[in-house]
Amino acid sequence: MRMVDIIGKKKNGGSLTPDELRFFIDGVVDGSIPDYQISAFCMAVLFRGMNDDEIACLTDLMARSGDMIDLAEFGDLSVDKHSTGGVGDKTTLILAPLTAACGAVVAKMSGRGLGHTGGTVDKLESIPGYKTELSEEAFREVSRRVGVCVIGQSGELAPADKKLYALRDVTATVDSIPLIVSSVMSKKLAAGAHSIVLDVTVGSGAFMKTVDDAVALAEKMVTIGRACGRNMAALITDMSEPLGRAVGNSLEVQEAIAVLKGHVGGDLKEVCLALAGEMLSLSLKLSPEEGRRLAEETLESGAAYRKFCEWIAAQGGDARYAEEPEHFPAARYSLDVMAPEDGYLAAMDTEAIGNVACSLGAGRRTKADKIDMAAGIVLCAKIGDPVEKGEPLATLYSEREETLAPAAAAYLKALTFSSAAVPKPTLIHRIIH
Ligand code: URA
Repeated sequence: MRMVDIIGKKKNGGSLTPDELRFFIDGVVDGSIPDYQISAFCMAVLFRGMNDDEIACLTDLMARSGDMIDLAEFGDLSVDKHSTGGVGDKTTLILAPLTAACGAVVAKMSGRGLGHTGGTVDKLESIPGYKTELSEEAFREVSRRVGVCVIGQSGELAPADKKLYALRDVTATVDSIPLIVSSVMSKKLAAGAHSIVLDVTVGSGAFMKTVDDAVALAEKMVTIGRACGRNMAALITDMSEPLGRAVGNSLEVQEAIAVLKGHVGGDLKEVCLALAGEMLSLSLKLSPEEGRRLAEETLESGAAYRKFCEWIAAQGGDARYAEEPEHFPAARYSLDVMAPEDGYLAAMDTEAIGNVACSLGAGRRTKADKIDMAAGIVLCAKIGDPVEKGEPLATLYSEREETLAPAAAAYLKALTFSSAAVPKPTLIHRIIH
């Protein structure tokens, strides 16, 4: 078999056989296929697409290209959630203990922040002592004992994706549905959970800018996950503004704790209850409505908050930070961003707001950058809120005073105001069961 023939077949619109796809993935992993042929293959797929059989086969081969975590001991109780990314998205911090307190098992690997989006592992590391690297034995032991364990993604999970993604990133071939589906689902399959709920975000802070594109991506991921034997559901959730009010690592942990303690409602709690309903429906075999009701009761009873404290302590974290979030150190400098006019907040460029948080120190520009855990933004106004000239729209936090003024200017530039009232965004655009 020759790679040039496989590229040519796809270029001409042909369907690739399992043997041809295996030849490709084997060659990606062992380094025998050069980068230029891998890149040409990705471009051919971008233009010609793949049918469901090809995508399912490619996904399965990519999942098996490295370690496969075996969570069979938990059966269908093992449930994972994956978000396609956003700003202020701290749902895992709430959903993991919430669904575990209901009886599900969340033995999960999460990622670090990338570009304008934050990462759960970075957020958890803002809790002193919390270990994001555990041996497989310790990972299983905590999952068994507590029902929840969240660690960083190991380097040996789906190495074929690691190589492919790095090349797609620099060859303008990220935005191909077959390539996104195989990339995301290969990592989810390798991570072992029997039930998977996808949170496909849509809007100015998301990868997918239209609901139709998000639905197409979600439907394909659900189809492929089922073809690979997993219980699947997907929600299309809004990312036309940051989720909740906090953007930045320890700020987001504090907001998640406030939701778990019942102190905060709003869009963050709503999205979490909808996701929890689907996670519990798949893992506990309830209807989504029953799952949501159970999640609501568990949140209100305080059981989800107690599970959060138990989980953090089980992974070495200092649970005093959960009990008294005042322990989280505040950033040294802060600045309020004031409304320049009366009216309504009409739109937010959420990707730009994610970049503002990064510029304050909350994210990395390169892999080697160190994160400032206390840096970030707390929003005072969200879309649809009335604003008055001179009132604060947001507070910016940083350890570096010189970042504040340019960040405030960039934050204002990311906002659109209207003199007429504006409706709040729809939170859940679609649910795919
Ligand atoms: N996230 C991934 O993990 N892979 C993609 O292809 C796109 C987003």
